[in-house]
Amino acid sequence: MTVPYKHEPFTDFTIEENTREFEAALKQVKGELGKDYDLVIGSEKISTEDKIVSVNPSNISEVVGTVSKANQELAEKAMQVAVETFKTWKKWDPEVRADILFKAAAIVRRRKHEFSAYLVYEAGKPWNEADADTAEAIDFLEYYARQMIELKKGYPIESRPIEKNRLQYIPLGVGVVISPWNFAFAIMAGMTSAALVSGNTVLLKPASTTPVIAAKFIEVLEEAGLPAGVVSFIPGSGSEVGDYLVDHPQTRFISFTGSRDVGVRIYERAAKVHEGQIWLKRVVAEMGGKDTIVVDNQADLDLAAESIVKSAFGFSGQKCSACSRAVIHEDVYDEVLAKAIELTKDLTVGNPEERTYMGPVNDQAAFDKVMSYIEIGKEEGTLVSGGNGDNSTGYFIEPTIIAGVDENARVMKEEIFGPFVAFCKAKDFDHALEIANNTDYGLTGAVISNNREHIEKAKEDFHVGNLYFNRGCTGAIVGYHPFGGFNMSGTDSKAGGPDYLLLFTQAKLLTEQL
Ligand code: NAP
Repeated sequence: MTVPYKHEPFTDFTIEENTREFEAALKQVKGELGKDYDLVIGSEKISTEDKIVSVNPSNISEVVGTVSKANQELAEKAMQVAVETFKTWKKWDPEVRADILFKAAAIVRRRKHEFSAYLVYEAGKPWNEADADTAEAIDFLEYYARQMIELKKGYPIESRPIEKNRLQYIPLGVGVVISPWNFAFAIMAGMTSAALVSGNTVLLKPASTTPVIAAKFIEVLEEAGLPAGVVSFIPGSGSEVGDYLVDHPQTRFISFTGSRDVGVRIYERAAKVHEGQIWLKRVVAEMGGKDTIVVDNQADLDLAAESIVKSAFGFSGQKCSACSRAVIHEDVYDEVLAKAIELTKDLTVGNPEERTYMGPVNDQAAFDKVMSYIEIGKEEGTLVSGGNGDNSTGYFIEPTIIAGVDENARVMKEEIFGPFVAFCKAKDFDHALEIANNTDYGLTGAVISNNREHIEKAKEDFHVGNLYFNRGCTGAIVGYHPFGGFNMSGTDSKAGGPDYLLLFTQAKLLTEQL
């Protein structure tokens, strides 16, 4: 009997033993920093002269690792290996493919703090955020393995006395997986494992600021028994390797998570049918967000302030689900704002190795972007908390609140992706929902309300892929909260949900006349 699915628990750092173990992992990983990682193409490990240097965003003089960098020639080589390997991999029993993911999950679980420590150094994640990223990676591996076993059965369809009918799901072919840096482990591992367990071969191009954690994951897959050539590891520039593979006639699908601009570019390019291409490429694109917490006048105002602060500033607001707009009923606006400012005062910012609440933003480009939005915010509203940045040793920005912002302000419309939240006043609950929907995106949202009628109205009218009530708008858990957004937030793939694997398969009907 299969044990029921249960998500990987988060580490309780109030327990001293857990803290000691995490410190030991940080120490161990610190001793491993600066190592060199090869490309992996089929059974070959390839070291290139051109390298990606991954630096610690909290301490930019610290090199986390150097990773060989693919160019178009190597991407082509990887493509040919993937095309060849697909011929055999697609025939593996789905349950055996699933077993490899179960084993990979077990390996990561045993070395959980080690992987989280890499995330502290490479992605600048505070302990709890790094721990959650690793837990989510384990969950994706476990969950997609279980889903594959289910999908193997196909969906029941009707048969007739004269014929036997069966609907089964077969893999697509070679998939290009392009992952972001913000869930450098979980999303990268989730996208890769879903594609491969469904019987596809994968070319993995991780984000250029977080290639080391991806290299560690490739080691895990190898240790778990994944045959050579099923996943090739080809870090490289998005515009060079990414465009090349997106355009490639042998690419069958692209699984992308990242910004709206890059997602739209991939979607457009993938639509073109190139010479020799005999299918329409499938694109799964999960993109940005402009996520809102709505606070009603009948609501727990402490819960509202806590939810806003946690969702806005956890991992420095660098989550696609982060709350970047707080839309508050005018009756309670002043009170919620005052409470949020008070809570923000307690947040510490600095090198997360030292257990701060917030670490840095991702890189110089992210620092410049967020700082420029803070300037825009000061013109569009009133700075009431934070506002300062310091990039002398790492890319640190204070948790920033801009109050009194108009619903049509730029900071209410554009994704900022940093520790920044705009407060906006609504005349009533209907107006609050109107403001919440007043964006091109539609990823997550939350409503803090004790009014049942309003909750029901929001269920109908708040147009986002993941809508939460009386909690924050971040923190989706695999298997419990399938994740994906509407409109310019992407193709609503619902990662971590029961129909996600269908995206990497095609249905084949088998009818036998009796
Ligand atoms: P990004 O700049 O779009 O990069 C994402 C990936 O795309 C990276 O691997 C990047 O490679 C690659 N890339 C860049 N240009 C490319 C091109 N021309 N062709 C193919 N690939 C290309 O996004 P990011 O800054 O890493 O991530 C943050 C964004 O992701 C935010 O907008 C956030 O909202 C979104 N996100 C969405 C979800 C979701 O589930 N909806 C989840 C997480 C993040 P390089 O690193 O080499 O440039």
